[in-house]
Amino acid sequence: MTEKIIGFCGLICNECPAFIATKNNDHEKRKETAKLWSKEFKTEIKPDEINCTGCTVEGVKFTHCKYSCEIRKCGLGKNIKNCAYCEQYPCVKLREFFKMAPNCELTLDKISKSR
Ligand code: SF4
Ligand code: SF4
Repeated sequence: MTEKIIGFCGLICNECPAFIATKNNDHEKRKETAKLWSKEFKTEIKPDEINCTGCTVEGVKFTHCKYSCEIRKCGLGKNIKNCAYCEQYPCVKLREFFKMAPNCELTLDKISKSR
């Protein structure tokens, strides 16, 4: 079984369409995801950008996650596994993000309480 990749923010990368399209080298899924995310994030995302091996592991990243995600940048700078391992968890940045992604809060809370 593939190991679960949990992003700094609590997203489960294995379930992300960019991860799945990359894993299966599925260009149709890249096109479909680019179209969907372009609409959702109100910006133009090209199918070639839909390449990602997951937030916290080596390899290619989706452009937003690589260059713009402040949570990922912060977590990488602290050299932690994900935000649940941060002394400041859950920080203001993260609490803002959780408003849009409550499942991420559940995921990270569970890790934070068990450590
Ligand atoms: S880091 Fe990659 S796999 Fe994880 S959520 Fe972002 S785009 Fe998806
Ligand atoms: S301060 Fe801590 S919890 Fe907040 S984004 Fe940075 S690493 Fe994550």
